[in-house]
Amino acid sequence: MSKLLFGTAGVPLSTRPFSTYQGVARIAELSLGCMEVEFVQGVRMKSPEAVRVNQIATQSNVRLSVHAPYFINLNAHEENKIVASKQRIFQAAYMAGQLGAKSVVFHPAFYLGDPPDQVYQTVKKNLGEVLNKLRESNVKVLLRPEVTGKGSQFGSLEEVLMLSRELEGVAPCIDFSHWHARTGANNSYDEFQSVLKFIESSLGRPALDDMHVHVSGIAYTAKGESKHLLLEESDLKYKELLRAFKDNDVGGLVICESPNLEDDALLLQQTYQKLA
Ligand SMILES: [Zn+2]
Repeated sequence: MSKLLFGTAGVPLSTRPFSTYQGVARIAELSLGCMEVEFVQGVRMKSPEAVRVNQIATQSNVRLSVHAPYFINLNAHEENKIVASKQRIFQAAYMAGQLGAKSVVFHPAFYLGDPPDQVYQTVKKNLGEVLNKLRESNVKVLLRPEVTGKGSQFGSLEEVLMLSRELEGVAPCIDFSHWHARTGANNSYDEFQSVLKFIESSLGRPALDDMHVHVSGIAYTAKGESKHLLLEESDLKYKELLRAFKDNDVGGLVICESPNLEDDALLLQQTYQKLA
């Protein structure tokens, strides 16, 4: 029986005073199980703070993950932007190590009109270089490219799973809301089942035991994701998604990115726990 933990994308909104450290304490108080530390505007945390946050997370049994900065494009056409993107992933991963977080989520790239096959090779090469540097620095975290919400962004389910299969140290972040928004489909029990089966056939059963998932309500257009919504105000069939998790005995972290963070994280957790 694998264990599925629920938590928030960033510090819960009801945290007082508002800090990452207090956020971890608040997660424990709410009886949630995990929190993603958001470095989306840049890695600004310093090592001593990360060590303190690591301590309270360990004491209170809260699992941490990290979201790397948004300003990453491993397919940028300018060399300096590639260098900066690799550096941002490395910094986020280094801080994840200090935090005791096992996973670093990031949005890998934009296609910029390039053929997807070529973009895949470019992303793979650049990501491989980050992985080498992490190994040299003895940073032991998984890099998790995220399934992205827009057709202009690299990060289809297939691309994310192929990177995970081809690169040691890479595992997927499956954002079910993004995948639904991007495809206009993938919003029923049967479709969630086939996504999980696809993950298992690509990466093996251990991938389902150690999943990293993003869920929120979502609004979308033909171009994909437009914004995050509350679960109850969106069309996402989250109960069917949770049923598919249960039926496949999925383990790992489910990070809620709805605007009300902890309320929807608790809704997901309570709904999941009620499933027989
Ligand atoms: Zn993300």
